[in-house]
Amino acid sequence: MKKGIIFLITIIVIFSLIILGISNIKPKEANNEKIKIVATLFPQYDFAKQIGGDKVDVTLLLTPGTETHTYEPTPQDIINVNKSDLFIYTGAYMEPWSDKIASGIDSNTIILDCSKNINLISLEQHSEEHDNHEKHDDEQNDNHEKIESESHNHEYDPHIWLNPENAIGMVNNITDELCNIDPQNSAYYKANAKNYIEQINLLDADIQNTIKQSEKNKIAFGGTFAYMYFVKKYNLEYVSAYQSCGEDTEPSAANVKKVIDYMKQNDIPVIFYQEQSSGKIADTIASETGAIKLVLHTVHNASQEEIDRGETYISLMRKNLENLKIALS
Ligand SMILES: [Zn+2]
Repeated sequence: MKKGIIFLITIIVIFSLIILGISNIKPKEANNEKIKIVATLFPQYDFAKQIGGDKVDVTLLLTPGTETHTYEPTPQDIINVNKSDLFIYTGAYMEPWSDKIASGIDSNTIILDCSKNINLISLEQHSEEHDNHEKHDDEQNDNHEKIESESHNHEYDPHIWLNPENAIGMVNNITDELCNIDPQNSAYYKANAKNYIEQINLLDADIQNTIKQSEKNKIAFGGTFAYMYFVKKYNLEYVSAYQSCGEDTEPSAANVKKVIDYMKQNDIPVIFYQEQSSGKIADTIASETGAIKLVLHTVHNASQEEIDRGETYISLMRKNLENLKIALS
């Protein structure tokens, strides 16, 4: 009889432990059901988080602060992407190494080119516009030296997200893919996307209003140049010491002089430079013109500090807007 009771108690204890064990495992199982996303750069990292909410687990492939143009994926990156459900990159011109990642993947990871259905600006068009701009300047000032284009090829400018319209295109691309992967929650993803798109539209309207209300529409860049989509979208006239982004050689003295002359002629109070750069050239220009040096964030990547602060594409672009207001004053 006693043995029977002990046996019964033992069985009850064992079952209780099993049940406890199962209930302990449950939250982990639920966690594992999240869609694992690896995003190369900050814009799509932020967009995927905004749209996916608590149903996704997003990691940034390029650790905060990593230089984006000279980056090469490591074997560990390929392993991490292989373990994910969705790999999001900007496009072939931003991450030419995406092919290397794609060929290293043997799992069911879906690969999303975020520039899908977005009109790219060719670098050739870029250079022609720059040259035209120079010609226009030459009419005003014969001293201006013409910049020789270094980028006569058929490649495209990859910094699409700096035009908010393109950011919306990227949000839509990510939303479509999340709905494909997880159709049960498509209403949730679409509602989040709608909300974020409204905020991007508001940002766009605020930038347009600022420019409309400003007497000036000319800005100057003393750092490497990633802003073609931005200046084109808002019809801003500009001068730049560098022609493109990711340039590792310093601009010629003639180019720097051109920026200084343009700023003096047009009474431009701000020289812009990229985040994650020392702004050395911008310093030289600032001391020659009396202008102040301000960051115009390219949003390629965010620093750890910015990520910890909870910065988003929109919050970084709003900081750009504040600096633009000063530059156009
Ligand atoms: Zn760039």
